Amino acid sequence: MKGLVFSIKRYAIHDGPGIRVTLFMKGCPLDCWWCHNPEGKEKGIRMVERVDRVGEKEFRSMEQVGHEYTPEEILAKVRADQVFMEHSGGGVTFSGGEPLMQPEFLLETLTLLKKAGFHTTVDTSGHVRREILRSIMPVTDLFLYDIKHTDPEIHRKFTGVSNELIISNLDMLLAEGKDVMIRIPVIPGVSADAAYMEQLRGFIESRNNGHIKEINLLPYHKTGSSKYRRFGMDDRMASVTQVSNGQLDNYIDILKPLGIHVKKGG
Ligand code: SF4
Repeated sequence: MKGLVFSIKRYAIHDGPGIRVTLFMKGCPLDCWWCHNPEGKEKGIRMVERVDRVGEKEFRSMEQVGHEYTPEEILAKVRADQVFMEHSGGGVTFSGGEPLMQPEFLLETLTLLKKAGFHTTVDTSGHVRREILRSIMPVTDLFLYDIKHTDPEIHRKFTGVSNELIISNLDMLLAEGKDVMIRIPVIPGVSADAAYMEQLRGFIESRNNGHIKEINLLPYHKTGSSKYRRFGMDDRMASVTQVSNGQLDNYIDILKPLGIHVKKGG
């Protein structure tokens, strides 16, 4: 069995979970307007033109987006960093796209990694069938869980799907005692708003059973814009400006009474 991955990155996070290797997997059931990894939304492999500039000269070549790996190949890739991960409290993260779109590969790879002693994290939109999510729970130490909006209609407008399944899956994970980091995209015109943050505080408060380990505020930024051009996709956020530091500090203050660590970025 093989999984389709579009990027593998190694991060050293000094104020967080140590050295981490993150695998970005292809395919996503959502269509968020602000997606920073539009190349991860599609399921299949794609060839895109790459343009490198040196001075006045342009060098054009074709680049493959998406590569297949077996679970054993992934294990071999992360082995080199295992000692550093263990000493720094890091591990392996599956992100995307939506990693649970490739459930058999994900389950088999997570199982291999757990057997080999790695800490495992899955970054999910939560828009996935309950039994698929349940299948990976025993081999997943931590879930990074996006709450893109608490209002079902706003959620549908900006992501293409309602949030009902997402919220009920979050409630299931917490009820089962799984550790979760809640990630909040802070998007101008959608969620970058003090009144919404107050409402969100109530949403989290009612679910705070000790297993919500951290809240990450993920501010909208323009780094994805060039990718939209490169992949010939429509950038629906082209006219939107970035969120200021002052706004983020204000939102952190609003969420502070929860008693959960709130961090800018993730
Ligand atoms: S869930 Fe994540 S990967 Fe999928 S479209 Fe939204 S931002 Fe992009």
